[in-house]
Amino acid sequence: MPRKCVVAGCSNTHKDGVTTHLWPKDEKIALKWDRFVRLTRVDWIKGTTATTVCGAHFTPEDFDGYNQWKAGFGMRLRLKPCAVPTVHHRYPSLHKSRARGNTTSRSQSK
Ligand SMILES: [Zn+2]
Repeated sequence: MPRKCVVAGCSNTHKDGVTTHLWPKDEKIALKWDRFVRLTRVDWIKGTTATTVCGAHFTPEDFDGYNQWKAGFGMRLRLKPCAVPTVHHRYPSLHKSRARGNTTSRSQSK
């Protein structure tokens, strides 16, 4: 089974050309990861050491040697030990149709 990103709306695996990162072992950091995933999945309880989050939810500052990797020198991107995912994926179709519905109903009610 491929490692799949657990963030809702994102099902990236290492096959999609993104980096994948295992859940941190540090409990304090892990709690922050849980909080992030819970923002996207209400049913989220907690990650395990086999849980994976893909690199799309991190900023370049969260990685060690990102610039070298980008330039093709590094073999593998490594997360900084204290890195916490902060980047949400948008929910393209769902979000758009909902916003449009709101605008229409407001202009009609006038
Ligand atoms: Zn992801």
